[in-house]
Amino acid sequence: MASILSHPAAALAMAPLFEWGGVPRRIVWLGAWCTIVPDFDVIGLAWGISYGDLFGHRGLTHSLLFAAAFGIALVMLIKPPGSRAANALFLFLCTASHRLFDALTDGGLGIAFFTPFDETRYFLPWNPIRVSPIGLSEFISSEGAAVLASEAIWIWIPALALFSLGTALVRHVAAAPGSRWTPRFRA
Ligand SMILES: [Zn+2]
Repeated sequence: MASILSHPAAALAMAPLFEWGGVPRRIVWLGAWCTIVPDFDVIGLAWGISYGDLFGHRGLTHSLLFAAAFGIALVMLIKPPGSRAANALFLFLCTASHRLFDALTDGGLGIAFFTPFDETRYFLPWNPIRVSPIGLSEFISSEGAAVLASEAIWIWIPALALFSLGTALVRHVAAAPGSRWTPRFRA
């Protein structure tokens, strides 16, 4: 996995455009939480579920089906204001971004994107992100600094760039003469 400190960067990157589109701020915060939910599957390791199992790490909770079902279920449960489709899409993309970051890492087993239909574990062809150790003690004692440095380059800098670009775009379009759009997002 990428570390749980960096997955929420995906929600930050998408926030300006989705907030402008009417997704409320509390759903953006919920989206940040959604980015780390798939890694709750590590609990299974303590229960004896093997890493490569359907319910193992990077298994079912890392599938695109889980991301879609989770996003839709949250919207049905919370009933946020604004477009249900926009809210569900945002939460889906936040949850789905997790497997994208994981598939860019350089270690562990691959990601079961298409489980339960296809249990093959996949990586993307390019793996610049240093994989994060699973245990907190391992993270603190050994690899942590190197992992965070790698994530700063490959996750946080691109995410901040997209956040800035989205903010600038929203302001630009909203400021255009005759624009009907009101920027809901305030940086
Ligand atoms: Zn993961």
